[in-house]
Amino acid sequence: METQLLAKESARAAIVEMGHTLIAKNLVAGSWGNISCRIDEQSIAITPSGRGYELLEPEDVVLIDREGAVLEGKRIPSSELKVHTAIYNAYPEAGAVIHTHSIYASALSAMHQDVPAIIEDIVQIIGGRVYCAEYALCGTQELADKTVAALRGRKAALLANHGAVCWGKNLQEALLVAEILEKAAQIAVICAGTGGKVYELSTEDADIMHDFYEKHYSKRQQGEE
Ligand code: 13P
Ligand code: ZN
Repeated sequence: METQLLAKESARAAIVEMGHTLIAKNLVAGSWGNISCRIDEQSIAITPSGRGYELLEPEDVVLIDREGAVLEGKRIPSSELKVHTAIYNAYPEAGAVIHTHSIYASALSAMHQDVPAIIEDIVQIIGGRVYCAEYALCGTQELADKTVAALRGRKAALLANHGAVCWGKNLQEALLVAEILEKAAQIAVICAGTGGKVYELSTEDADIMHDFYEKHYSKRQQGEE
């Protein structure tokens, strides 16, 4: 998977646009959740802390380095910058990170439950069940450490009593992960509500589907195959 990087001003504009998209898709509300993308090896563009997405301007987006120090910007960077930088440091192929407070992912996170691998599209894009990180207070290094521990090679994790975090090679892929994760979480909640038996996909089938997604299907989505 090749990381796709944007120049500084394009990254700022893309983050503002993604904020509008997350609101429109009901993946965040108000100023909660946050978005970042890598600009180059050392710098990351990230949403400011506590600013509503509707009114966000490109110049509100803050540039930070991989340790979280501010390089450029007049706003305070997202309070979850440790989660974002920890993901970039753990997964060099990550080009963007989106943290959502989406409803069904949050419902499972409130029960400290994983999103089970019960539907094919989530297995294709993520590779299997999405694990719920142990609880830690928002904005802490402990949350960043527990998030990375829960990712376990996947592109998403739930954050206990909080929401979800997703990454992709670019903002579009991170959004797709967030949308498919939320859909899978909704299906899991619906299944749990019926009380019927749920069949989890086998690791073998999950591996086949994820491999096909990485090598071919994701390229078709980008018009590259
Ligand atoms: P920020 O507004 O600081 O990005 O925080 C929102 C959030 O979701 C904290 O977990
Ligand atoms: Zn949050």
